Amino acid sequence: MSWFKRDKPADEKLPKLEDSERKVRTEGLWQKCDGCRQIIWKKDLESNWNVCPKCGHHFRMDALARVKMLMDDGVFETHDHCLKSSDPLGFVDSKPYVDRLKSLQASTGLSDAVISVSGELDGRPVQLCAMDIRFIGGSMGSVVGEKIARSIERAIETSTALIVVSASGGARMQEGAVSLMQMAKISAALMRLDEARLPYISVLTDPTTGGVTASYAMLGDLNIAEPGALIGFAGPRVIEQTIRKKLPEGFQRSEFLLKHGMLDAVVPRLEMKQYISRALRFFMA
Ligand SMILES: [Zn+2]
Repeated sequence: MSWFKRDKPADEKLPKLEDSERKVRTEGLWQKCDGCRQIIWKKDLESNWNVCPKCGHHFRMDALARVKMLMDDGVFETHDHCLKSSDPLGFVDSKPYVDRLKSLQASTGLSDAVISVSGELDGRPVQLCAMDIRFIGGSMGSVVGEKIARSIERAIETSTALIVVSASGGARMQEGAVSLMQMAKISAALMRLDEARLPYISVLTDPTTGGVTASYAMLGDLNIAEPGALIGFAGPRVIEQTIRKKLPEGFQRSEFLLKHGMLDAVVPRLEMKQYISRALRFFMA
């Protein structure tokens, strides 16, 4: 009688699962939290704007969800959705840049790595741009630059405030120098916004790096970040190799940057709208 005895170790009886198979079977229902290592029901996570209900860890968020979170009743008007990159360099890496764009446009429903909208935040009209990290690492190419610049122009025309939520790996390699020029273009447009005495609030989320940090993400009248976001110009490995020193714990995270005077505030996502609303009331009084 072998009912209570194991004649074979359990793992020999079951066919072994590859890691990839294991992931596929649970995908869509549960998510392991990177903060507290607990398993969270994905619906709980989504209904909490991608913030872990157990420990407050901030998961990444796509641009559309971000816009819905910040705009009153999730109502907004989208601008410049038809703008698409013309592939100025005819760039090909593992696949042609045009093909990469097409497949991402199909899978994300976005035309490029930023959504530009206007709407109301707590009853106050604003221009809002939100970047999406899924679209070639949220990289800044000609379209991102143009959409943000147009959004700034709209803010000036309508005397409204500008909010840009960044999530980006930096300039877009596939557009070379054209990407880098966007840094100057947006910075110049922001100067005009400043001359019109209209506020610009920059929200930095995980990750904000490279040319985006080096231009508009750090040019806000208020630069605020989500908790635990990676924010920097070059990556830690490059810096360590250059200065030949070990970097301190938490280097390039929001809290570290706040402590060293690089940010104005670290604001949890669930308090972000309220915080921006209060800031705008102050700026536009
Ligand atoms: Zn957690």
